[in-house]
Amino acid sequence: MKKILFLTYFIFIYQNCFCWGFYAHQKINYYAVFLLPPEMLVLYKPNIQFLSEHAIDPDKRRYAIPEEGPRHYLDIDHYGKYPFDSLPRKWEDAVAKYSEDSLMQHGIVPWWIQIMQRRLVAAFKEKNEVKILKLSAEIGHYIADAHVPLHASSNHNGQLTDQKGIHGFWESRIPELLADNEWDFFIGKAEYIKNPLDFAWKRILESSAASDTVLRYEKELTQKFSPDQKYSYENRNGITVKQYSTAFSKAYNEMMKGMIERRMQQSIFAVASFWYTAWVDAGQPDLIKLTNKNFSEEDQKEFEALNNAWKSSDMIGRKETPNP
Ligand SMILES: [Zn+2]
Repeated sequence: MKKILFLTYFIFIYQNCFCWGFYAHQKINYYAVFLLPPEMLVLYKPNIQFLSEHAIDPDKRRYAIPEEGPRHYLDIDHYGKYPFDSLPRKWEDAVAKYSEDSLMQHGIVPWWIQIMQRRLVAAFKEKNEVKILKLSAEIGHYIADAHVPLHASSNHNGQLTDQKGIHGFWESRIPELLADNEWDFFIGKAEYIKNPLDFAWKRILESSAASDTVLRYEKELTQKFSPDQKYSYENRNGITVKQYSTAFSKAYNEMMKGMIERRMQQSIFAVASFWYTAWVDAGQPDLIKLTNKNFSEEDQKEFEALNNAWKSSDMIGRKETPNP
């Protein structure tokens, strides 16, 4: 019985922590605000809590609608070997070659970022505050996901190499352990991105190139730790939970030479730069003079529905639940 409880809670913790984990996504959107120019800060700073809280709406939507899942990743290794030239970078060309159904099966994150970017430009042109904020929060999520190495690998949770759990380990456990006290997120200014689609592809290819290291180092380190040392038990709200031990997490982070911190910093820079680029492309509207400033009842209902779906249902489609 006890064992079942441990397992249940271990799964529970990390089931809700994928795609950088809720914690890291919220931090990424939060810190991205500080990279913006003053003309944008007038809108983004007073709404920093919203942008941070709603960074995780796309993950919640994975519990509500089936087409959401593929927007968060790209199993690029499905298309051959690095740099995967056989996969056309433009959506229309990729659809012509592989069909939309087939593309959806292996993930579409770079193209989805492009769609969200166009929507954000349109929202700025409309001067629609609610839309700008919602789209900014959500595009931040997808951009950040594109920076996670295991979001660019079909072995996304180590399930093919007996490393189940590594997904949540890399993007949740380690940031939660180290980000607040040891990592630096004040990193300069947002920059204009000439070609957002190219930029997204570049980050996906970097993620893909890093995914081998992410997996290999965990395997190597596991040889040096007994299962007792690799995992620890912690009390959370009166419940004992099993997780990767602090010693194992720190040793892995050291072995990776700051990769996770660096990827988080790059995510923050990219999110701010996409926001800034959308604003520039919309003609730099005055963000003090916006319309539609209040969330409607419909907006509130949508947020509630997302929360309820996330709390009460199973994720639809691919799961990254570890089972160590
Ligand atoms: Zn995600």
